[in-house]
Amino acid sequence: MSALLEVGDLSVNYGRVEAVRAVSLTVQSGEIATVIGANGAGKTSLLAAIMGLLPSRGRVVFDGQDLVRVPAEERVAMGISLVPEQRDLFGTMSVADNLALGAFRRGRAEIPARLERVYALFPRLEERHRQEAGTLSGGERQMLAMGRALMAKPRLLMLDEPSLGLAPLIVRDILQTVSELRDEGVSILLVEQNARAALRIADHGYVMELGAATMRGPAAELAADPRVAEIYLGAA
Ligand code: ATP
Repeated sequence: MSALLEVGDLSVNYGRVEAVRAVSLTVQSGEIATVIGANGAGKTSLLAAIMGLLPSRGRVVFDGQDLVRVPAEERVAMGISLVPEQRDLFGTMSVADNLALGAFRRGRAEIPARLERVYALFPRLEERHRQEAGTLSGGERQMLAMGRALMAKPRLLMLDEPSLGLAPLIVRDILQTVSELRDEGVSILLVEQNARAALRIADHGYVMELGAATMRGPAAELAADPRVAEIYLGAA
């Protein structure tokens, strides 16, 4: 395995608040790495900085290339896609049009093949391709947000709390799809408050507390760590 993404000493400030403090992490090619942590730990800010949407200090290296001066759109073209926590869909546009927007950088010619791929992963989206995105259920919206990110054919898919607000069965389906994507070679950086579910599918994990990465290791080891269990897994 080789590192697809290497983040070194990355920091993000909002004025005097240091939301991300010198975080270092690696996503290996073909793996799921997860960052777990409580509300406000800095997970969303970390992803935004990796995507180039927020000013930050430190190193972000993708596939051997330093991204410091690379703007967010170019990071997408290089193969990084972010599925934001708010899912950011165009509510009055159809499912199919939302998906097509995700491929705009790749050009019209690639849309049919990408659509076919996304519909194979999420048959529900194909059934509802004409429906307005704003009328979808929470789970369907998450599928659409993931589908739109996949239209760009990413090599690294970053997911910000895909389980947020969804029923347990739907969370299971969504995370099952994330595992399938990994098995097809898409590398994943998964941010979750739902530590149990995230560590179950991840290869490596990081615990983030007050902006800092305080624990790291193979996901199974973190899941078995009594400190993680006590704080994040609701152990008795
Ligand atoms: P959540 O799970 O609630 O989304 P998180 O782990 O993703 O939390 P962030 O959203 O990255 O955490 O927030 C980290 C810290 O930075 C929090 O204290 C938050 O209040 C603060 N913060 C986030 N965005 C801003 C902003 N635009 N301006 C000022 N402070 C911010």
